[in-house]
Amino acid sequence: MQTEFTGVLERTKTTRLDKNEVAAQEKQNGVDVLDLTPSQLRAFRWNELSIVFQSAMNALNPVMDIGTQIMDVLAAHQSGRSEQARKQRAGELLRLVGISPDRLRSYPHELSGGMRQRVVIAIALALNPEVIIMDEPTTALDVVVQREILDLISSLCKETGTALIFITHDLSLLLELVDRVAVMYAGKLVEVASRSDFYDHPRHPYSYGLMNSFPTLHGPRHKMSGIPGSPPDLRNIPAGCPFHERCPFAFDACREQVPRLRVAVAGEDEQVAACHLYNPRHRPTIPAASDLARGYAAQLEEGRSVR
Ligand code: SF4
Repeated sequence: MQTEFTGVLERTKTTRLDKNEVAAQEKQNGVDVLDLTPSQLRAFRWNELSIVFQSAMNALNPVMDIGTQIMDVLAAHQSGRSEQARKQRAGELLRLVGISPDRLRSYPHELSGGMRQRVVIAIALALNPEVIIMDEPTTALDVVVQREILDLISSLCKETGTALIFITHDLSLLLELVDRVAVMYAGKLVEVASRSDFYDHPRHPYSYGLMNSFPTLHGPRHKMSGIPGSPPDLRNIPAGCPFHERCPFAFDACREQVPRLRVAVAGEDEQVAACHLYNPRHRPTIPAASDLARGYAAQLEEGRSVR
């Protein structure tokens, strides 16, 4: 299963990934990471869940060769393995990500950006974790290398059966790579849906705005609306729905009550959105995509004053 977190700014997706949301995610596998002791957490990390950070150059230690860095993970978590076995495994991991094991003694500065990112992916795969979190793993790479890395990630996850949580703001990547999409705004999940549901009919106004902010190569031409304004200051999130100052559909309840994730359309249980438009207590009818489009178009024309 590959899930993607998306949102406009890094800080809204990553730094504010709410502790409870992380816990809820892990509880699905029967583990609440917030309840683990430091030593349990140390064992959990990398064995069960590993992470690939955004900037490979910063993620790797510049004064250690890459072989030592891969073997470090194995030494920390599999102390029973001999040095020779660790070296052999490090070579296998490099081969897995398309780098010759001859490069084990190379330092990060001797590798290209794409190779460094592959090394970081190899380290993340070292212990065959159940889940890998990838935080914008291709941001610093040119588009050709990006494509190679994404193909690699996709095939490795299929090959190893590893689940992937992919954090990005790049919607075109998102729709190619993942099975399920989770959209975040101001540090909270605002919509969760399968890729096809999200693509065909994003329900949350923010999701709709995101989808309508980039051009498509196929289909009829349409005017892109974008999303006026900026995300809120996370130290001072507005009351009620955090999106209300930018939302073309905001009404009184939006300024007072925080919307909770709920099934957007009865019978489509796989798609949930945190929006009062889908709460029958506030709105008896479900807005169609054309209503969302009209709302954004009207906002664009009026040049409504937003933050
Ligand atoms: S709850 Fe209100 S302000 Fe928030 S996204 Fe829905 S309609 Fe817009």
